[in-house]
This record gives sequence, structure tokens and C-alpha cells, in this order.
Amino acid sequence: MDLGRITTPLTSPILGPLSLVAYRRVSSTTLAELAAGYRMGEIRLVTARPDDPVASLPIAAPDGGVATWLTWTPARPGDVMLERFLWAVIAIAVLFSGIFIFIVQRLRASAIQIALREREIHRLAGQDELSGLPNRRSFDIALDTALSKAESPEGGLAVLLIDLDRFKAVNDTYGHIAGDDLLRQVAQRLLGLVSPGDVVSRFGGDEFGIIQSRSPTPARTATLAGSILDSLTEPFQVQGVEITIGCSVGIASAPRDGTDRQTVLRLADTALYEAKNGGRNRYAVFQQQMNRSLQVKRMVEDDLRNAIERDELQLHYQPQVSADGLTIVGVEALVRWPHPRHGMVPPSEFIGIAEERGLIMPLSEWVLRRACTEAQRWPGLRLAVNVSPIQFRHKDFVANVLRIIEETGFDPTRLELELTEGVLIEDADAAEAAMMDIRAQGVGLALDDFGTGYSSLIYLRRFAFDKIKIDRIFLEYMEATGESAILVHSMAHLGCALGLRVCAEGVETAEQHRFLQAVGCHELQGFLFSKPVPPAQIDQLLLQEKPFAQILAAA
Ligand code: C2E
Ligand code: CA
Ligand code: CA
Repeated sequence: MDLGRITTPLTSPILGPLSLVAYRRVSSTTLAELAAGYRMGEIRLVTARPDDPVASLPIAAPDGGVATWLTWTPARPGDVMLERFLWAVIAIAVLFSGIFIFIVQRLRASAIQIALREREIHRLAGQDELSGLPNRRSFDIALDTALSKAESPEGGLAVLLIDLDRFKAVNDTYGHIAGDDLLRQVAQRLLGLVSPGDVVSRFGGDEFGIIQSRSPTPARTATLAGSILDSLTEPFQVQGVEITIGCSVGIASAPRDGTDRQTVLRLADTALYEAKNGGRNRYAVFQQQMNRSLQVKRMVEDDLRNAIERDELQLHYQPQVSADGLTIVGVEALVRWPHPRHGMVPPSEFIGIAEERGLIMPLSEWVLRRACTEAQRWPGLRLAVNVSPIQFRHKDFVANVLRIIEETGFDPTRLELELTEGVLIEDADAAEAAMMDIRAQGVGLALDDFGTGYSSLIYLRRFAFDKIKIDRIFLEYMEATGESAILVHSMAHLGCALGLRVCAEGVETAEQHRFLQAVGCHELQGFLFSKPVPPAQIDQLLLQEKPFAQILAAA
């Protein structure tokens, strides 16, 4: 349609005054584009006068008459609605979500407050929430009160600190709900053992404390400690599973050991430390000489880092011999610390502290590097090195081992790492991955202290060990009880059946040797052959063809 050229002021109800420019030829596509550009519903040219005067425009013909009408739908109805109400909708949405968040937060805050208040009520009531026993605070108050009368004739008392063994493993294996259940049962058993007037308290975690009152004699305290050990080593039924744990007990008394709370608790703690160190599942009564181990502990904390840095540690090596006792097949590296004031400190006194104090990594690296360097000169021998669980769990463990092997040039197929079950229990998947990596390099793996851990069979099946080392505890009691001999026999059989090398540790007598040889152990290690000795003595032993022949002949 030929419109001529016109420019017409136009008013849109939404957008205000507009200018619509019409060109000579306006196709229907152009009109549609125009409508879209101006956000109108539709623009059309009609010949008849439209009904709506606002949404139409007469277009003059050259003669001055109306040629045609331009009409449009003012706007897309949805757009109008949207533009009118969009902000309102947004505002309402924001308002509602604000109210919603506010309500949720208030609910959460009040739930937390209720929980906190409950805990506070328990705390003020002096109660441990989980077990219902008096908590640490009430224990302290009760102990202060009891100690204030400690020097009166009936006022003496004993404090027993109890620490559960393997509780963490239970928590990790069966979950926290089972762990909590177990703690409640422990609390009930303890309550059943004490006399009226005694206080049983849970300090938190797996630690409990008892105040035995009314001037107990040492014998009465020992009886109580013994019954605690007996009771807590009995299996527990937790959520349908039978669980066995153990415990260690440390004992101090007032007024004999001290008359103030700090001293009595510190000394009971020293005794507890001693009980745990002595192999757990036992109780220890504080004695003055235990202060030496406390001193050693402090000394270790102070001096160990320097000793590692200054290269003051040493390695001794204990031979591992063939079953006939004639050939040395390997050596186990055992760390020693010649301390200027305390003499030769055994590893049992510092490895645990090194673990606690974050020194186990530098210590272990030192041991591995030194062992790989010194053992180069014994080409035919396997070298066994102990690995601490904490060291094994370190993310760089495998990389560190491989780096040291490379730096020292040691033949990886001669190296054997001794792991304990503690290594495996915490994160079995990570342990398995690390072990695969290590084995891929040809390094051997031995399961140390076999038979003392949590569930050895599972580990033997799952993890790729080359060797088991039967713990020396079984040999210690072998002569006294037939049971230990049966156990050793079964363990040796089991190892053989699984295709593993079996090594017995702690061989001290010729009878033990004969028995172990008869039940099929492949390797033996113990004082009968040699104590751990400095490297020069291994050189000496290797010079002899059958270094232990004389010992064996004499036995
Ligand atoms: P282990 O790995 O079970 O080492 C064997 C321990 O038994 C050694 O004690 C050894 O001297 C002792 N032993 C060997 N044969 C006999 C025997 O016939 N009778 C008796 N009664 N004992 C015997 P040691 O050297 O005191 O080491 C104690 C523990 O300290 C070791 O037990 C090991 O767990 C740890 N350990 C030692 N060196 C290192 C180390 O370099 N790194 C780590 N992580 N742990 C180490
Ligand atoms: Ca070992
Ligand atoms: Ca061992």
C-alpha cells in the first residue's frame, strides 16, 4: 500500500508519546516488526474506521481525505500485566522468603537453645548427659570434699582412673551410636562394683574416675581394680553384636601420695600411663619410681627433636634366622637413643611420645634412611623396618619410602616393612591403596605382633601380607599353659595355609625353638639367637658360617 511519507505523533498507553514513521511501502512484515519494536500487540492497516479512537490513526490520502486507518492493539496484555505487577510480585516473593528464612532460623535457634539449656541443666546438675553419672566437675567437687577430711582416721581415699582400650576402634567399626551404648553399659557395670559412698564419674570420652572412700586398705583397692578389669573385659552386647574391649586403671591414694586434688589426680594419671605402657588390661598403683617415667616423658618431649636433628639416635639390628636356627636370613632394625643423662632409652619409652608430639615422621624417616644405608653391606639379608600407624597414615608415606629407597640405592626387594593391625583398622581403604603402591615396588609387608590385635583373620584375607610375626606374648606363656602352645600351633598353620611366611618372635629357649620348628615356622627371632646388636656385631656374626651352632648344640 502506498502511504506517502508521514510522521505522526503517537501515544502509547504504556510507553508515552512515540513517533511512528511510516514509509511509502509498508509490508505486513514491516508492520509486525514495528509492533514488536514498540512492544505492541499488532499493527494493521484497515479501510474502515476502527471503533477505538485511541488505538488508531487516520492516514490522509493526497486529496486530504482519509485513505486508510492505521490501527494497533496497544500492548500485549501479558506484558502490561507483567510490567504493572512484576515489581509487586518480586517484592512479595522477597518478603515471603524473608519471613520463611526468619521463621526457620528462629526455629533452629530455639532448638539449639533448648539443647544447650538441657546440657547446661545437666552440667549444673553435675551430670554427664550420656551416662547419667556425675561429670568431671562434680567429681572434682566430691574429691575436694573428700580430701579435706583425708587426714582424719576414716578419711583416707583412693582415686582410680579408668581408660578403655580399643574404644576408638569400636566407635570406628560400629559407629557412634554403638559407642555411646557401650559407654552406658560400662557406666552401669562400674556402678555395680563400687560400695555405697564411692563416686563413679565419667570424665568424657572413654575415661572414667572412681573415688573409693572410707580409708580403703591397699588390698581393698586392689580388689576393686581387679574386679573392674574382670568386669570390663567381659564381652558387651551392643546392638546385637558381641564386643570385647579392655581397660587400664591407674591408682593413687590420699593422704599417702598427696592431699590436694591436683597432686592425687596427676599421680593416678602417672600410674594409668604406666598401666597402659605395661601392656594395657592391667592396673597400676602409683609408686615413686614411676616419677622416673614421667621425667623420661618430659625429657623425651624436650630432647627428641634435637636428638633426631643431631643424628644422636642409633639403630640396633636383631637377626632373624631360618627355622633350623643355622642361617641368618634377615635383620630387624630397632631404634635406640643413647641419652647423655638417662642412658640407653628403649623405643617403648619414646615412640609413643614421638607419635603424640608430631615427631614420628622425622624419626621414621631417619630410621628408614639409616637402616637402608647400613644394611647395604649385608647383601644377602632382608631388612625389616617397623612402621608406626601414624607414619603409615600420613599422606606422603608411600612417596617418602620410595624417595628414601631411591636416595640410598637400597634394593626394594630386600626391604620388608612391619605393620601392626592398628595401621589397618582406621581407614582400611586408604591402607589397602598404600600397601598396593608399596608392594608394586617390590617391598615386602609383614604383619607384626600377630595374634594380639582386633580381628587378624579379616586383615590376613584382605591385605596382601607376605609374612606374619607371631607376637612374643604367646611364647612367654607357652610353657606355663598348654593353651598358648595350641594358639601358636594354629597361627603357624593358618599362616602356612595362606601361603605366608611365618616368623616367631621372642624365642628365648631351646624348647621353644624345637616346638616352633616342629609346627612349621619359617623364621625365628629372639634372645636365644641374639639380642638386637649394633651393626658391627652383625658383621661379626655374618663372618661365621653357622653363627648359632654352638648355642644350639649347648641347649
Ligand atoms: P617389635 O617390633 O615387636 O620389636 C621386637 C621387640 O622385642 C624389640 O624390643 C626386641 O628387643 C624385643 N625382643 C626380641 N627378642 C626378644 C626376646 O627373645 N625376648 C624378649 N623379652 N624381647 C625380645 P625393642 O627394641 O625394645 O622394641 C620395642 C618396640 O618398639 C618394637 O616392638 C617396635 O614396635 C617399636 N620400635 C622399635 N624400633 C622402632 C622403629 O624404628 N620405628 C617404630 N615405629 N617402632 C619401633
Ligand atoms: Ca617389629
Ligand atoms: Ca613384634
